[in-house]
Amino acid sequence: MSELIFLEPIFKKTVWGGDKLKRVYGFDTPGGTGECWLVSAHPAGDCFVASGKYAGMKLSRLRREHGELFGGEGDFPLLIKLIDAKSDLSVQVHPDDGYALAHENSRGKTECWYVLDAEEGAELVLGHNAADREELIKMAGEGRWEELLRRTPVKKGDFFQLEPGTIHALCGGVTVLETQQSSDITYRLYDYGRLENGRPRQLHLEKGLEVVNCPYVPPEDEREVAADGDCRREILVTCEFYTVEKITVDGSAALEWPSYAALAVICGGGTADGNPVRAGSAFIVPDGHGKTRLEGRLTLIAARPAELYLGVDLGGTNIAAGLVDEKGRILRRASVPTLAHRPIGEIVDGMASLCRSVAGASYAAVKAVGVGCPGTVDHRSGTVRYSNNIPMKDVPMAEMLEERLGRPVALENDANAAALGEWTVSGGNSLVLITLGTGVGGGAVLDGRLYRGFNGAGFEPGHMLADPDGPACTCGNRGCWESLASATALVRQTAEAMETDGGSLMHEWVKNNGLDGRTAFACAALGDAAAIKVRDGYIRHVGRGLASLLNLLQPEVIAVGGGISNEGESFIAPLRDFVYALDFNKYCKKTLIRAARLRDGAGIVGAAVSAKNKYGEKRRENYD
Ligand SMILES: [Zn+2]
Ligand SMILES: [Zn+2]
Repeated sequence: MSELIFLEPIFKKTVWGGDKLKRVYGFDTPGGTGECWLVSAHPAGDCFVASGKYAGMKLSRLRREHGELFGGEGDFPLLIKLIDAKSDLSVQVHPDDGYALAHENSRGKTECWYVLDAEEGAELVLGHNAADREELIKMAGEGRWEELLRRTPVKKGDFFQLEPGTIHALCGGVTVLETQQSSDITYRLYDYGRLENGRPRQLHLEKGLEVVNCPYVPPEDEREVAADGDCRREILVTCEFYTVEKITVDGSAALEWPSYAALAVICGGGTADGNPVRAGSAFIVPDGHGKTRLEGRLTLIAARPAELYLGVDLGGTNIAAGLVDEKGRILRRASVPTLAHRPIGEIVDGMASLCRSVAGASYAAVKAVGVGCPGTVDHRSGTVRYSNNIPMKDVPMAEMLEERLGRPVALENDANAAALGEWTVSGGNSLVLITLGTGVGGGAVLDGRLYRGFNGAGFEPGHMLADPDGPACTCGNRGCWESLASATALVRQTAEAMETDGGSLMHEWVKNNGLDGRTAFACAALGDAAAIKVRDGYIRHVGRGLASLLNLLQPEVIAVGGGISNEGESFIAPLRDFVYALDFNKYCKKTLIRAARLRDGAGIVGAAVSAKNKYGEKRRENYD
């Protein structure tokens, strides 16, 4: 087993610093020490290893020369410090990676604060009151800072995630543990008119105001607690750069992380793998260390680099890709045209460069890539067996993309991936997603597991037989559900009704808006009899297929996606009533029927989640 890597702190004297680092944490520091960098490989303060076989080595060098301790090559992306503010810090803002790389040749800065101590009545500056950038620039220009800045009361134990572009300042009487990207790019906006050595400190108003997010939207509290014996673990935040948790031990606990992690003891004391620790101790648990034994009565903040995934939704018209975090949230997304009839190698080239540009500076943190692809897919070998709308036969898609990206790639059918994505935001035992588009697509997660059929061609609800005398289907059969219930079928039904009824309002509507899936719904809402007939008939077509699926599977959720679901409850409510009336189950809990939540993001999220299930650290045991 590897050893824990203890670090020597680095102290920074500041004009606003107090004496708590000495008084509370027992560090031998002069008064006015504002910052103590506990874990840092930044050139402005590179911590030395305090003991053990790497004693005396700087953290940046350890990172460079011993990649095995950190799970591979790369830089050390985190900086953890104690900050003791005796008086107010200047009001500032940090740029994101994109802006900082373009303007400062540096990483941007996302940071978070865990409040260790706050005096009675203490506050933070967090966000602003301007409605838009124009108002922000005007108020700043007129020096109306007190009106512009938002102040938040603060107490011990509070936690704040500060996304780039958030105006913020620590105020006097507050001590925090800050976890941040390893960067020191700061734009100072306002310094309360104070002087330092008889002169005001330099401001960076122009760049600062350019990067401020407008309007200010307070972040959601996403703290999540898990108690386990003598230990309580609370995830404080997960973002593009780090996952930070608070750990409270009273007794003994053996804890593990999916990668290397940096830990700082913030109160109490005890031992870590037998080494004495106390408030102010900081150490790194190397990658692959296994369990770390913590004993005593102590509270720690643990930070580890984020685990990111890329999800690619390969469609006949567009390739969409998104950078997705551990919780399945899309952080950034972009798309390019597929140009489906070029050689497949070129399409895969296009997917690869889209992936790299979406991930940007966070590419190093991408663990794996997932692709949702039309057609019949062998998810085990990562091969597209057959696809019609992007011509493919036995294409080793996963291998081709792996070669270009240097990351493992998971492959799923696109509709199945979308169901997995929708299930990720929904949770529960089972979910069926139906997408009403050119055809009727769908996927199912049953008993917590994506259903694919034995050959990968499984779950194609569009080709369930609905009416043996119905219209011809693209698959060669007659009367498939999609020939009656797809958006294409709705448009056809609308056109037929217009032909029979020359006086329908729909003629006028189509002249102004064109004929599409909305025509019948819009004119039905205006009371047009022919449109009402089309709408109600279409709802019955969709509803009969859903009722069959409901009676067959009794899933916890049926989610309805595709453009028509944008009609909202005017479509979903009558559909739900129709389906419930056909539900054989009158006695057990009922299936929830609702519009899909992720809309066009479901494919990206699902592809990323399939990559996480196949290759993530917390690999799902039932992935096969
Ligand atoms: Zn800051
Ligand atoms: Zn068919």
